[in-house]
Amino acid sequence: MASVIRHDWHPEELLALFELPFPELLYRAAGVHREHFDPTEVQVSTLLSVKTGGCPEDCAYCPQAQRYDTGVSAQKLMATDDVVAKARQAKAAGASRFCMGAAWRSPKDRDIPKVAAMIREVKALGLETCATLGMLDGAQAVALREAGLDYYNHNLDTAPDYYDSIIHTRQYQDRLDTLEHVREAGLKTCCGGIVGMGETRAHRAGLLLALANLPGHPDSVPINRLVQVAGTPLHGSAELDPFEFVRMIAVARIVMPRAMVRLSAGREAMSDELQALCFLAGANSIFYGEKLLTTGNPDTERDLALFSRLGLRPMAVQVDAAGHDHPGTVHADITCGAGCGQAA
Ligand code: SF4
Repeated sequence: MASVIRHDWHPEELLALFELPFPELLYRAAGVHREHFDPTEVQVSTLLSVKTGGCPEDCAYCPQAQRYDTGVSAQKLMATDDVVAKARQAKAAGASRFCMGAAWRSPKDRDIPKVAAMIREVKALGLETCATLGMLDGAQAVALREAGLDYYNHNLDTAPDYYDSIIHTRQYQDRLDTLEHVREAGLKTCCGGIVGMGETRAHRAGLLLALANLPGHPDSVPINRLVQVAGTPLHGSAELDPFEFVRMIAVARIVMPRAMVRLSAGREAMSDELQALCFLAGANSIFYGEKLLTTGNPDTERDLALFSRLGLRPMAVQVDAAGHDHPGTVHADITCGAGCGQAA
């Protein structure tokens, strides 16, 4: 039966998917994956931070929060020329999309022209543009769109009813409001969350429910596995069962059939076998870190070797007559400030 794009999922339906026998869940997810994508292709994303550390928020997972002693020092917003130089490198390495991220609660109005200048110059290189800057109001979203922004990353992080166990400096509704401003401005959305933060299966289902029942499914859904950083409140959390992580990927694939489901933070600590299970469960995008910008990186070589062993290949850049790339592109992409790596 063909999968249907729905925005009216019920909590019990998602929990029932999570509770399927593992082979049955993977079979169903793989079927949905095949309906919408070539399962042998994986989108490759990479990462650059334009403003790292010193964030006033209190996200319990994040080493960039100023209040935690994690050894991440606050940096100023990068100069536009330096960002453009990185974008040129990314393009030379095969990227077609470039994302600029800043560890802010939200940009100040005076920051918008600076980021807009970056967006315009990166766009002028022939790259698609993506940004993650924290919460936006409607006018800021429009200003970024007018500067040439294509995508905006803003994660829901976790389920609504677990949110205040993780973050106290903003509300879930703030996230939803920004996503609405982003959609209304005509930007594409990248939105996902983090697992392994001590949440229950019902919370994981709740996060996917919130994502799947947005007015439009996000174009990209990053699923992060907590990277525990000393000094953050979540350091020392119980490790999530790897099979539960695979279930998360599979349910994300089933309820958001056309989204790029991305293995993001935490992937470097996963075994090749676990990553292979995730690809089988419908993951079709990976997060490379800032590795497209360098050559001979051992982690990149490990990724390419894994692709080769599994018979996978990076999605080719596909540019249409209007010069726009399609979801299957290699793109440069960033989290909420590069250091935490949790939020892309
Ligand atoms: S995740 Fe983003 S908003 Fe939260 S503390 Fe880190 S940089 Fe700030």
